[in-house]
Amino acid sequence: MLILNAGIFVHGEIIFLPLPGLDQAHQKAGSLGCLNNLKQISYAAKRWSLDHGGQFPAEFQVFTNELASPAVFFCPTDVGRLIPTNWSDLNWSRIDYTWISNAPWADTNICGTCRIHTHALQADGFVRFGLERSGWPSFVAGAVEQLATPGSAVEFKVRIAPDALVPVGFQWRREHLYYRTNVTFVSDPSTPGGGYWSTNRSANFTVTSLAGQTTPSLRLQNVQTNDSDYYTVAVSNVMGTTVSSHARLGVDAGFTVLTNEHWSRVICMNNLKQISLLANIWADDHDNHKPQSFSEMTNRFGLPMFGWPIVLFCRSDMARTAPADWPGLDFANTSYEIISGDEQDAYAIFCQCKVHGFYVQMDGQTISGPRFTAITHTNNTVELALVVFAGRTNLLEASVDLVNWTNVATYSGATGPLFYSETASLPRSFFRIRLP
Ligand SMILES: [Zn+2]
Ligand SMILES: [Zn+2]
Repeated sequence: MLILNAGIFVHGEIIFLPLPGLDQAHQKAGSLGCLNNLKQISYAAKRWSLDHGGQFPAEFQVFTNELASPAVFFCPTDVGRLIPTNWSDLNWSRIDYTWISNAPWADTNICGTCRIHTHALQADGFVRFGLERSGWPSFVAGAVEQLATPGSAVEFKVRIAPDALVPVGFQWRREHLYYRTNVTFVSDPSTPGGGYWSTNRSANFTVTSLAGQTTPSLRLQNVQTNDSDYYTVAVSNVMGTTVSSHARLGVDAGFTVLTNEHWSRVICMNNLKQISLLANIWADDHDNHKPQSFSEMTNRFGLPMFGWPIVLFCRSDMARTAPADWPGLDFANTSYEIISGDEQDAYAIFCQCKVHGFYVQMDGQTISGPRFTAITHTNNTVELALVVFAGRTNLLEASVDLVNWTNVATYSGATGPLFYSETASLPRSFFRIRLP
């Protein structure tokens, strides 16, 4: 129950679907786009050089003929600018890359850099992968998706890199998703008048700035169903503008999601997926070793990679509640635990929910119960490959009519892949594996 300023009592329930991996991927995409620009610049310079006796170009301007468009000189991470579509509109003082003329070509010296990233293009064509430069307003915690009942008060909140150059400006936006279907005729030159129609459906957003919403958090009081939409925030400083990933707000009186244990399980699985995704991003920077604990999963600012603590708490966990922020959080007392097992074993448990027992394997697969992985059926032999659920009793049952089931095997204690083979006992046609 929430008490609003006006003194009205409003019932509201909200659940959160944290997707911190999305923000990480979003920022990484811009970074990879930048890397791609540097590569294209490198190829263009080399092509120009081939036509000019192996010379090293002194500046970008000499080899623009080798490039398709000026867009390649703009780092995709800065979304705040209009990129010219033709060369005559290009203001060279506004581009994001710097060219450093330093032959010979085989050299590992740096010949290209980005204003926003520490990526570095070497003369030999190799690009050294970097991060955003200090000062850039990167997101260290994104907005969390929320489902709410009408009348609730919801809040979207982001956190920016602590070293972002100030002042930092925030502008929250509402984004409405729509689809556009494009139909084009693809002519076939070999048959005059011939060809075929092609359609594709693309997703787009209409963006509306929310007046007065210019702080790191967006509070919406007394939300109604027509507030359901996507919300983002554009963050700017002297270095440029970045936009958060889309956080959805769903408002519906009939959300069974809010109270249902089935949905708590789905959200728990989602948390495990996010934890696994972030662990992989962490492993990328740590010689491909998976983290051994949540507390070591920090970003370059020493802050937890998870965005907000909520991703480490299962909704079915009655003993623990997610705090709003990190200070004072005991990483050993969250709903999930990292099991530091054999990294080479794809089926080993990486992280497990203390409440449900659901887990995510080293290979990123989430397991919420026993399951079949393969079925081989030859003449009168059935061979089942199955994965049993850790720490529980797993019952393998068979039936001829899907009504009456007979237990054929029981597995407990162990985890991982197993085989079950049965000969000459058909016509048993159906098998199931379940937890009692
Ligand atoms: Zn860049
Ligand atoms: Zn759980």
